[in-house]
Amino acid sequence: MESTNTPTLEQFQQQVSELLLRHRSLLDVMSKFGQSGASVNRAVTKAVTDCGCIELNARKQHYSDKPDLETAKETLQSHLSGSLCEHCNEALKTELGRNLFYMTALCNLLQINLNEVVAEEHNKCSTLGLFNLT
Ligand SMILES: [Zn+2]
Repeated sequence: MESTNTPTLEQFQQQVSELLLRHRSLLDVMSKFGQSGASVNRAVTKAVTDCGCIELNARKQHYSDKPDLETAKETLQSHLSGSLCEHCNEALKTELGRNLFYMTALCNLLQINLNEVVAEEHNKCSTLGLFNLT
């Protein structure tokens, strides 16, 4: 369900900073960040192996000599078929949210501005363009 009052990154970072009482230690936050990342992968895995709403059929990628976007889109495969059912979609959003929470908490402890992280990555993607895919 889409929220109508999505916070800005600044608001979210501030909220995380206020909520983070239990896991104040850098080590706790680092390990929770890693654990929540593993839970994201686990939720994707369960969508394949328990639910079956998505399927994975992976094989070797065949890269083209022509480094243009259209050729790459045609040649490179996601190895994914189907789409997430409502249940798996919700489960995955929950895990991604927890992962984002701990990433934000890590930013807070190390005084990194989340908005700058997104802005710098956005600029990097714009500059690198297609070559970012490799
Ligand atoms: Zn499913």
